[in-house]
Amino acid sequence: MTRDVTPLLDVADLAVEFDTPKGPLRAVRGVSFQVGEGETLAIVGESGSGKSVTAQALLGLVPPRARVTGGHVTIEGRDITGLSDREWQKLRGERIAMIFQDPLSALNPSLTVGYQIAEMFRRHRGLGRAESRRRATELMVQVGIPDAARRLDDHPHRFSGGMRQRVMIAIALALDPRLLIADEPTTALDVTVQAQILRLLRQRQRADRLGMILISHDLGVVARAADRVAVMYAGRIAEVGTVAEVYEHPAHPYTLGLMRAVPAVRDGGGPLVAIDGQPPDPTAPPAGCSFHPRCLFARDRCREAEPEPREVAPGRASACHFAEEVIAGVHTGAR
Ligand code: SF4
Repeated sequence: MTRDVTPLLDVADLAVEFDTPKGPLRAVRGVSFQVGEGETLAIVGESGSGKSVTAQALLGLVPPRARVTGGHVTIEGRDITGLSDREWQKLRGERIAMIFQDPLSALNPSLTVGYQIAEMFRRHRGLGRAESRRRATELMVQVGIPDAARRLDDHPHRFSGGMRQRVMIAIALALDPRLLIADEPTTALDVTVQAQILRLLRQRQRADRLGMILISHDLGVVARAADRVAVMYAGRIAEVGTVAEVYEHPAHPYTLGLMRAVPAVRDGGGPLVAIDGQPPDPTAPPAGCSFHPRCLFARDRCREAEPEPREVAPGRASACHFAEEVIAGVHTGAR
């Protein structure tokens, strides 16, 4: 599905495979999406759906046993598929930055937070010690760390979980990236701090016109923080659209199941709840639509032909043969 404006990020037909003793595991199978300037796209799905591997591929950080086997990723018109390690290192931080779920393990416990933020300026911009520290203090103020000048010399363990995540956001924003990838950035935080961090991300994103990919399993977080949402299932995008459209009128039975499984979803939702049945074995997916063993809409065609993602309304795509019926709320009771 192509949109009118030139996107900041264009992912086309991305494929990632893992080598396993049982044979190749196709973790990401032909994923396509776009992210515009100042836009947040959330990617949701159960664990194993391929959402985190997709994010890793965008950063050139797929695990050692995995490899990108197809597709193209373009950022600001530049194809970044197949970059060398050196080129990736330059791109990360400069154009694309990442915020992880657990800042404690992402930060170095033996170095002060000020050193770790300032290092971005020293290493990537070649700035001197005093100027790097000044910039680090400025960033800490921007991300809402009180008493920033004094706290610069504290180590990570002296910060609360929420403040550590603010430090991670400062590091991510240090080099003015154009795209931010946030992988479950608030999962380890309590609800109040979660809301503060989401608000901070939103503010920074609007101020700097950043594109953001928010990886989450929490439909409430997605409802509060994202403009559009891509729902992943078994390594593919089941559907994509604005948050309002997807939540109110799902175009894929998997999304419909997720929405029904979270009773309060229309009031902001909550963590994603598993729906009946198991996701397929990724080394031996079923023929046809990989969702068919769990799908209440499945018919013979679903067991024979894998549905390709297609536009079902302006700005919306679904990989379901019967998306129009799902949107219309027509349940065939075919099973
Ligand atoms: Fe269900 Fe068939 Fe649509 Fe797959 S293609 S989600 S099995 S109705």
